Amino acid sequence: MQNRIPFELSKTESFFEKLGEWIGDVFYDRLPEAGFELRDEQIYMAFQLEKAFKEKTVMFAEAGVGTGKTIVYLLYAICYARYTNQPAIIACADETLIEQLVKKEGDIAKIEKALSLHIDVRLAKSRDQYLCLNKLDKLITSSDEEAFHIIHDRLPEFIHGSQSLQTFEKYGDRKDYPELTDEQWAKIGWDSLEDCFTCENRHRCGQTLHRDWYRHSKDLIICSHDFYMEHIWTKESRKREGQLPLLPEHSCVVFDEGHLLEFASQKALTYRFSERILEILLTKLMANDVRENTLYTIEDLLIQNEQFFYELKQSAYFNEGSDKLTIEKNAAVIANGKQLHSLINTLEEELVFESEMYTINEYELKIVEEYLEQISYSLSLFLKELTGITWLEDYEGERTLVIMPRLVQEIMKEEVFSIRKPYIFSSATLSENKSFDYIAHSLGIEHYLSCQVASPFDYEENMMIKMPAFAHGALSEKCLYTLEQIRRTDGRALVLFSTPTELTAFKLFCQEKELSFPIYYEGDAEISTLVSQFQNEVDSVLCSLHLWEGLDIPGQSLENVIIFSLPFPPNDPVFTAKRNAVSNPFFEVDLPYMLLRLRQGIGRLIRTHEDKGIVHILINKEEDRQVIEAVLSILPVKISTEQREWNR
Ligand code: SF4
Repeated sequence: MQNRIPFELSKTESFFEKLGEWIGDVFYDRLPEAGFELRDEQIYMAFQLEKAFKEKTVMFAEAGVGTGKTIVYLLYAICYARYTNQPAIIACADETLIEQLVKKEGDIAKIEKALSLHIDVRLAKSRDQYLCLNKLDKLITSSDEEAFHIIHDRLPEFIHGSQSLQTFEKYGDRKDYPELTDEQWAKIGWDSLEDCFTCENRHRCGQTLHRDWYRHSKDLIICSHDFYMEHIWTKESRKREGQLPLLPEHSCVVFDEGHLLEFASQKALTYRFSERILEILLTKLMANDVRENTLYTIEDLLIQNEQFFYELKQSAYFNEGSDKLTIEKNAAVIANGKQLHSLINTLEEELVFESEMYTINEYELKIVEEYLEQISYSLSLFLKELTGITWLEDYEGERTLVIMPRLVQEIMKEEVFSIRKPYIFSSATLSENKSFDYIAHSLGIEHYLSCQVASPFDYEENMMIKMPAFAHGALSEKCLYTLEQIRRTDGRALVLFSTPTELTAFKLFCQEKELSFPIYYEGDAEISTLVSQFQNEVDSVLCSLHLWEGLDIPGQSLENVIIFSLPFPPNDPVFTAKRNAVSNPFFEVDLPYMLLRLRQGIGRLIRTHEDKGIVHILINKEEDRQVIEAVLSILPVKISTEQREWNR
């Protein structure tokens, strides 16, 4: 295996010494010879990363926009994977970004070309990105839609043949069917109502073949934060069921945009019980030739399910800026929850009799039983006085009860960071006031190394920041100011809002105005379509709630960033629990969160050496002095006295 390491290494030589020499050679000579810019920031970061790999520990590597940090962590990850004989995991912030790394003009392709390396890189996508044979089979018997029949006819022959597993080729990736709309894909892609574990098609399914393929990667496996967290959350239960964990044993993990890992963890480390899932399962079950007793229990359950979610909705209240509704566990909620729990247990008993009569398809019965077990467990956690967090989500009437049994930091500490391994967090915003304690604490990390590398861009030259102040609640004055600033740059602006109320107020304010540029509002169309319109129509405006990070629009389309208010976190159940767990909630939770998000928002403006522009940060006249000082301390440029309106 040693000959796969891209430098000579004898038995008596130290891997890290030779790696250091090779890295120096790569950054000082080979990459510049291949046309890459020699960047001191990149070289500094490279030698910092070496310590984390040597000590097998966590490293927070904060590197500003334009430092070329991806190439640095990729080189270390590849060498370390080859040295240890286990692939490195690169976890990106979301599913769409994982394709970015492997695209033709991406950093991996550049390294391969410049260093004449062949890199074994494979993608591990989430389950809903694969075709489900069961769904497709059912669909073509009931639908005439040509697109599905073509897909079915073009399936590889081995699916219905008897060849050995070795002759199977992977197929069924969402990317292989670009012509399908998301709505069409939802009809044939895997969803949570399909149970792969008990599925008879499992060994011929494209998803299984893809999993098998990426598990054998020798260098890199690329996945999303969500997928990595799903691996952590399910690995023990999968092992118990005789399945392999989603990801294989790996040598190290890089969390690209690592400041977002906490949110992926919050999403993954939960039990979710949705009203619709139970309804679909029960309705399907009723279509079978079940006994009368079972039928009555199902009918009662359907009514009770609706009643329970009705009471939940009545008791829950909305938190501005959050999609998590706080639930008041009042007597009606508890009584209806208990009744639902008891009916589920009755149905579970009825199904034992049903299974002996063989009137329900074995596969369907297994799915129903597993779901009922999971729902029963979730409900019992909810009904207990657990120390974790619960909330309700309600998307256009689709209601889900979410239960996070323990705080994220406790689980991450036990399941991830207690294992000695290099864990690299890479992002332009990881620290708060030069300290990494906030992110470390939120993920349960006790020991870590860190480094900070500034962006090579000349912010003083290319960025101006203004901080106008407004009286508390002066929404229309803020809207007027924002529109004036957008007019000054003829569009070309990104307006970032902290709450839907602010965005809606601005939208209403602009409705009657005559404007020479289009304004796109998040929520009015699919988000990537809005982003591409904003990028391609130079004089346009994009108003967004969520694009504080990840938006990369170099050039003239974005010359003006307006931050409508300081992005403090919402008062939802997750943040409330975080606040309750510390002694000084404002300074340990709210302020650090706001400053990280603010830095991300400001970071949207300058994406290349040529970019120029202005950032407006709208603040409250009554804002606390300490908050203002904290904001000033994270700005990439000094702010002149005339821009400090709150002094007036
Ligand atoms: S293994 Fe899963 S995705 Fe594949 S056909 Fe079966 S249920 Fe569908």
